[in-house]
Amino acid sequence: MSERPRLTVLSGPSGVGKSTVVAHMRKEHSEVWLSVSATTRGPRPGERHGVHYFFVTDEEMDKLIANGELLEWAEFAGNRYGTPRAAVLEHLETGVPVLLEIDLQGARQVRESMPEAQLVFLAPPSWEELVRRLTGRGTEPPEVIERRLDAAKVELAAEPEFDATLVNTSVEDVARELLALMDVV
Ligand code: ADP
Ligand code: 5GP
Repeated sequence: MSERPRLTVLSGPSGVGKSTVVAHMRKEHSEVWLSVSATTRGPRPGERHGVHYFFVTDEEMDKLIANGELLEWAEFAGNRYGTPRAAVLEHLETGVPVLLEIDLQGARQVRESMPEAQLVFLAPPSWEELVRRLTGRGTEPPEVIERRLDAAKVELAAEPEFDATLVNTSVEDVARELLALMDVV
């Protein structure tokens, strides 16, 4: 591990498998610190406050933004999401590799404010497979799936902006490739 690790951002369309890949990677490499975002969306079954997200009200999110406590934030498919700044900087300063799992708009903000960050795009093997995964997850009603697929078209077109692309065919392979990009091996 290098002395001052770079911040790594993992982005890609909803349903491509970002959470699955990150969870798999962290099972064996708990030394990678995953930032916990604040969100105004409600928890899915099994999601825990402070573990998967900090679930906040609209008013609480307004305050986080107004107080400059977020490194970046964005509205995605009807909800707001943001990365608490202090924890990210503290981990980087103590030499811990940090991973953000955020949307395209957030990735662009990080590129502006921390140009040394490494931006990694997670792509689906095909459009049909992305639709299958998002629908198959069964966590969103049809109209929310539609909004997420609309956003996915925009996100897929932005792939060339990223430093690296990983295609999520195999969770194990992608997790290994991501660790290599982060210099954690
Ligand atoms: P995201 O975090 O990008 O929104 P998820 O991690 O929730 O996506 O994955 C969406 C769905 O796709 C889940 O049901 C997950 O089990 C499935 N999935 C993830 N990666 C793969 C893969 N490589 N092959 C098949 N299914 C996958
Ligand atoms: P989900 O609701 O499926 O958990 O997340 C929806 C989208 O929001 C995903 O693309 C996810 O990466 C993104 N996201 C999660 N946390 C953040 C964050 O803190 N900032 C930004 N910009 N996007 C986030």
